[in-house]
Amino acid sequence: MTETTAADWSAPLDLGAGPVRLVPLVVGYEPIPESISIRGGDPARFLLEPVTAAAIVYERGWVLVDGGFNLDLVRDPVARAAHYDYEGYTAVVPPGDALAEGIAAAGLDWSALALVALSHVHLDHTGGLRLAPAGVAVALQRREWAWLVGGAGRAETVVPGDLLASGATVLLLDGDVELAPGLRALDTRGHTPGHQSFSVALPERTVVLAADAADLRRNLDERVACGWTARPEDAAAAQRAIERLADLEREPGVEVWPGHDPDWPAWRR
Ligand SMILES: [Zn+2]
Repeated sequence: MTETTAADWSAPLDLGAGPVRLVPLVVGYEPIPESISIRGGDPARFLLEPVTAAAIVYERGWVLVDGGFNLDLVRDPVARAAHYDYEGYTAVVPPGDALAEGIAAAGLDWSALALVALSHVHLDHTGGLRLAPAGVAVALQRREWAWLVGGAGRAETVVPGDLLASGATVLLLDGDVELAPGLRALDTRGHTPGHQSFSVALPERTVVLAADAADLRRNLDERVACGWTARPEDAAAAQRAIERLADLEREPGVEVWPGHDPDWPAWRR
């Protein structure tokens, strides 16, 4: 097994003038209490939320944003019991391998994968690394990396091995960073210590993938943050993140996509 290493981010990737298309992917589902997704929500009302990812396609290569669950762990009863231990939660995965099939259906090849950009290290985002070629670069905020290597694990709904045993080269970002022409990481920390969202400047519009900084459309419309943060002291940061995303959407031609909204059109099959 190749060792996962970390290094500083250096320069934007040279993949082409800008993204030519964005492929939305739904790679699983999870029941989440409304109170986790939005502060003030009902803790007894469960939403069956899509687990989402996206491929950002350039002339020369593509970037994977997040990747859902590690199916090998979800489908093995012993591994599943070892990694998933919180009440009321289960990973729901469709038959087959939705990520592999979605990438193939989009006509993309893993050998052309230039980068995996992880919004954060929760287990419903890191599992796609199992499909990435060894040594692939992973863009992560430095704060998130510090939280992971500092011991985030089962109790934090993190499967450390998804990244730490992947053999990836983790490239550490400090705040807003241009990853490639037309693709920017946006600091939206709060949900986790180094959460990030991604702005994708497509030919016809700009899409901001909020990930878990805004699970639901309601977070944005009502400017109310997620109801849960990995560290209680990050609640104010989570609120700043939602304000930032809601402000961005006021700019002409910008759409912010909530990361886990069952009713958001891009995530409906
Ligand atoms: Zn999360």
